[in-house]
Amino acid sequence: MNTRKHTILPSKLNFTAKNIRHETQLNFPSTLVIENAESVEIAHTNYEKPFRPSSLEHIETTKINTAHVSIETSLFLDGLEAGLSKELILQLTDIFAWDIDFATNLRPGDQFTLVYEKKIIDGIETNSDQIIAAEFINQGSSYAAVRYINKSGVASYYTPDGQSMQRAFLTAPVDFAKISSPFDMHRMHPILNRIRAHKGIDYAARIGTPVKTTGDGIVSFSGNKGAYGQVIIIQHNDHFETLYAHMSDFRKGLAVGNHVKQGDVIGFVGQSGLATGPHLHYEFHVDGLYRDPESVKIPHSMPISDNLLTDFNSQTQPFYAQLNQVKAKSLYAKIHTSISPSPLPPASLQQLHFD
Ligand SMILES: [Zn+2]
Repeated sequence: MNTRKHTILPSKLNFTAKNIRHETQLNFPSTLVIENAESVEIAHTNYEKPFRPSSLEHIETTKINTAHVSIETSLFLDGLEAGLSKELILQLTDIFAWDIDFATNLRPGDQFTLVYEKKIIDGIETNSDQIIAAEFINQGSSYAAVRYINKSGVASYYTPDGQSMQRAFLTAPVDFAKISSPFDMHRMHPILNRIRAHKGIDYAARIGTPVKTTGDGIVSFSGNKGAYGQVIIIQHNDHFETLYAHMSDFRKGLAVGNHVKQGDVIGFVGQSGLATGPHLHYEFHVDGLYRDPESVKIPHSMPISDNLLTDFNSQTQPFYAQLNQVKAKSLYAKIHTSISPSPLPPASLQQLHFD
């Protein structure tokens, strides 16, 4: 049976169902239930705005799915092969964006476990999935996240003990780019050909790739800086500053003094200044000192407040328990099928030595 429900605003309306045309004046607000209707056309006669089909209330249900994926080829290929949607995999990378650098730090043998919700509309499975609980094991380190929906219906992700997954800084300013040159205080310079510290991280990416600010802050510099080419510097607070160099262009209208939010695009990858190829040179300054962004411990954002902790636990713990069951089951299956995993050699980093 195909039942559609529509909550009607005060107006006179016509609707067609099963080829019978009805015209009726209802007492409002009221709910109209039309059964066995192939299509429903509703025309408001006393209502200014045209009727929008989106206000048709479809029958929506959800189904809980689980997955455990071991990465052998790539996150996307192995994820898709396990039947996960691209959107779901992107959600996973968004949730752990503050902990894992998916662009450069994944290794064969990394694995993840998911409990997610699949939306079913009018009996048809959609690709509209939402992660409820997830664990990602990256190079032996485990990261876990659970979804919490607050009283206003907004979903956010936390560690199972209620710390926000969000942190003051993202792990990388460019998505899915390769580190072509890491932070190194004793590096041989590719153009100058002598030992000169590389006080930042280089991300090889195509010209025009969007560059994002890794944290909230204020633009403190934008312009040319000699060998660094086109540079933007963001001041985050009294202690932290980030620098983005060799850019081809800045975001239109971005000016010194502007506020930027974490993840905002501030400009685009280029090859300006002293550079042997297109890349972003990214620096992280703490109290005026150059630091390796990968080794700085970045604090979590706001934890769940104490008065919500009971609600948080009752909402998230059952799914976190389910996640651990799925994980334990697949580990058990792995041991008992005695398939010896043959991990591929670590993906070697591209050694381009840009500056
Ligand atoms: Zn560099």
